[in-house]
Amino acid sequence: MPTYFDTHAHYFDRKFDTLDGGAEELLNSPAFQSAVYGVINAGTNLINSQTAVDMTGKYSFMYAAVGIHPEDAQGLPDGTPMDPDTTLSALYDWVSDADRRKRDKIVAIGEIGLDYHWQPMDKDLQKVFFEGQLDIARRVGLPVLIHDREAHGDCFETVLKYPDVRGVFHGYSGSAEMARELVKRGWYIAFGGTVTFKNAERVRAVAASIPLDHLLVETDCPYMAPVPFRGKICHSAMLPYVGEVLAELHGVSAEEISRVTTENAKKLFDL
Ligand SMILES: [Zn+2]
Repeated sequence: MPTYFDTHAHYFDRKFDTLDGGAEELLNSPAFQSAVYGVINAGTNLINSQTAVDMTGKYSFMYAAVGIHPEDAQGLPDGTPMDPDTTLSALYDWVSDADRRKRDKIVAIGEIGLDYHWQPMDKDLQKVFFEGQLDIARRVGLPVLIHDREAHGDCFETVLKYPDVRGVFHGYSGSAEMARELVKRGWYIAFGGTVTFKNAERVRAVAASIPLDHLLVETDCPYMAPVPFRGKICHSAMLPYVGEVLAELHGVSAEEISRVTTENAKKLFDL
């Protein structure tokens, strides 16, 4: 069976506690490990970014991304607001130390971006965090994981302001035209469980248009489990179901999707 590189996962999420043995038992299981080539465990604030990093020490296949998600930019779960200056300078101090970065297996800044779905939302504050983190990525030379939900135009315009920064648009839901412009500029486009959903014809059409050398796969687990696992807790060993659909869309074998998307991940994250 082909193995996959999951470029976007959240294994620190408390939802995994509802599994027998939690995330730990899953990640240690031989069945999981034989299906998974690599995983990027992506933080959404400074606290769980540290947890994401701590987990990488236990699993040879796991790497970390650290950053502030647009929803978390609105404040911590306990309601504490985050001061952008203090938070961004703490993040910069963390990732600018190359030795520490290597020790922590940090391969990207993420996940960062804009989310105009959830209300109430402070667009200006999201933009301060997004641009601040793109600037950090530029200064330290790390790729970024972009979260773009109902904010395609603003996300696209913002990344254009940082022409030296590269990365991946995760769980891509934008247009084929925008994807083409991103790919032209060296960006990667990632798809997950959504491509398997019955009503996702539009997403499948976009996925079919992405050149194979800029395509990545992801789960965004514990969320977005592919068909036939919808409603279950998602994990990286479900990626063959995503790979099968992408293979069909591109008219290649699943082995080929596995091979190219893994090569792309290794190249983008410098592994
Ligand atoms: Zn995510």
